Amino acid sequence: MNDEKIKSICILGGGTAGWMTAAGLAKKLESLNIEISLVESEQIGTVGVGEATLPHIRYFNKTLGLDEAEFMKATNATIKLGIEFCNWGKLGDRYIHPFGDFGAPIKDVDFYHYWIKLNQQGLAKRLSDYSYPIVAAENGKCRHPSENIHEIESTFGYAYQFDAGLYAKYLRAYAEKKGVHRQEGKVKDVAMQPETGFITTLTLDDDSTIEADLYIDCSGFRGVLIEQSLKTGFDDWSQWLPCNRAIAIPCESAGRIDPYTRATALTAGWQWRIPLQHRTGNGHVYWNEHISDDEALSQLLSNLDGKPLADPNQLYFTTGKRKKLWNKNVVCIGLSGGFLEPLESTSIYLIQEGITALLELFPDKACRPSDQNEYNRRMDLQFDRIRDFLLLHYVATQRDDSPMWQYFSQMTLPDSLTEKINAWTERGLIQRYEHGAFLPPSWVAVMAGQNLIPRGFDPRVNALSDQELNSQTSAIADAIEKAVSQTTDHMDFLKLIGAAI
Ligand code: FAD
Repeated sequence: MNDEKIKSICILGGGTAGWMTAAGLAKKLESLNIEISLVESEQIGTVGVGEATLPHIRYFNKTLGLDEAEFMKATNATIKLGIEFCNWGKLGDRYIHPFGDFGAPIKDVDFYHYWIKLNQQGLAKRLSDYSYPIVAAENGKCRHPSENIHEIESTFGYAYQFDAGLYAKYLRAYAEKKGVHRQEGKVKDVAMQPETGFITTLTLDDDSTIEADLYIDCSGFRGVLIEQSLKTGFDDWSQWLPCNRAIAIPCESAGRIDPYTRATALTAGWQWRIPLQHRTGNGHVYWNEHISDDEALSQLLSNLDGKPLADPNQLYFTTGKRKKLWNKNVVCIGLSGGFLEPLESTSIYLIQEGITALLELFPDKACRPSDQNEYNRRMDLQFDRIRDFLLLHYVATQRDDSPMWQYFSQMTLPDSLTEKINAWTERGLIQRYEHGAFLPPSWVAVMAGQNLIPRGFDPRVNALSDQELNSQTSAIADAIEKAVSQTTDHMDFLKLIGAAI
């Protein structure tokens, strides 16, 4: 029976996905005596972008036992309280999608329902004024969340903005210390068992070979094992998320280092701005049918904070996902599994989810179809939900000022998204998932932020008199204003916790 146990794992690829996987498996499988190797090719290199994350990364780092300040220094990280979206609902609009709640429930009803009623009466402040992380972000402040659930400062989470290349380097040191063996080389040949189609051996360009029981394909867009060898197939989602190119360029920082990422909608795509401690990351994600590469670069360069610090990095992609993220004895994690554009910083999150699901369903050598199916079901749900959430940004809009925006205004949406939008607009209902990247406050933030305001609200709101409604909601906004006035400036906070470089 013991012969059936996995004794060796080979990870192909040393980008963020490869080294996160190596670190996660080395830590969690420590007691099983499994040999873990990682092959990467310096000649091929990594994708070299990826700077904004979701709060879930803190749990990944915690599982590894990383020291927050040391990790932040090593990756030039800043705090991210959310994403500011400019020009998405209408030209000139702006709102922040925060990592946290709006207000706090009153009599077990989510706060935003009270806001909808107050808004209908013309008495509400901006929904943002009832969110601690938004007001803190707007004022350039941050702190760790309070552990006292009665305090308004407990109503948020946070993520990081960091150099993903440095993160991979940091995790490489961690994984190698835990016994992961790194091998430099380019895979030139892949051998498979004829009866099962399982991968048996990788041959590198120096003719050395690697054999393993389980392969993790972290080879980026190439999908060397999952696609080039196993021909798994790809679900192309370009009809929903048609942006297919990006240009990235870092620049000098100027002024305040914001504890949030910015995504500004343009005519044929959108631009990101991610402030790190030592520079600002920028990029333009666009749809090449409606803008040339030269024009996209010139739009990007005209919107930088300071002097460019490198040559532009041009990237090509197709949005979508692999038909099976686990096929035979290959699990693909990272860009080899699929890519949804980086509007909500979800790629590193999906890497983390892939690692977690693999550990929970860790197989023996047989890699049974039932294990594969369950893994693929879980990951498909993650991808589907994120696709809908990203698409929401493009369709909950009043913009029709360019061919790209006109395309979205005429689009037939996936049924799952239509249902979500209808449930919201009718009476402020957010369909809940058992888990996933985006909880109800995220959907509220984007829909309300892009001027999609429900006609109705939870009837239990009417249990409060108008006077109680006013005083209780005002008390929350006042508490937030007071709490933020006592919160530390972002960079002072980084110094305070020993995370400043
Ligand atoms: P890669 O970085 O491409 O690494 C692939 C590895 O495989 C490399 O080590 C390469 O050498 C190796 N390899 C490939 N072929 C072979 C071979 N034949 N032999 C040996 N080795 C091989 N994510 C976020 O979470 N937040 C963001 O803000 C964000 N922004 C992004 C913006 C853009 C425009 C793009 C395209 C992506 C962005 N991402 C973001 C995604 C993020 O960059 C990736 O998810 C992450 O870096 C993981 O990439 P990877 O490790 O899968 O692939």
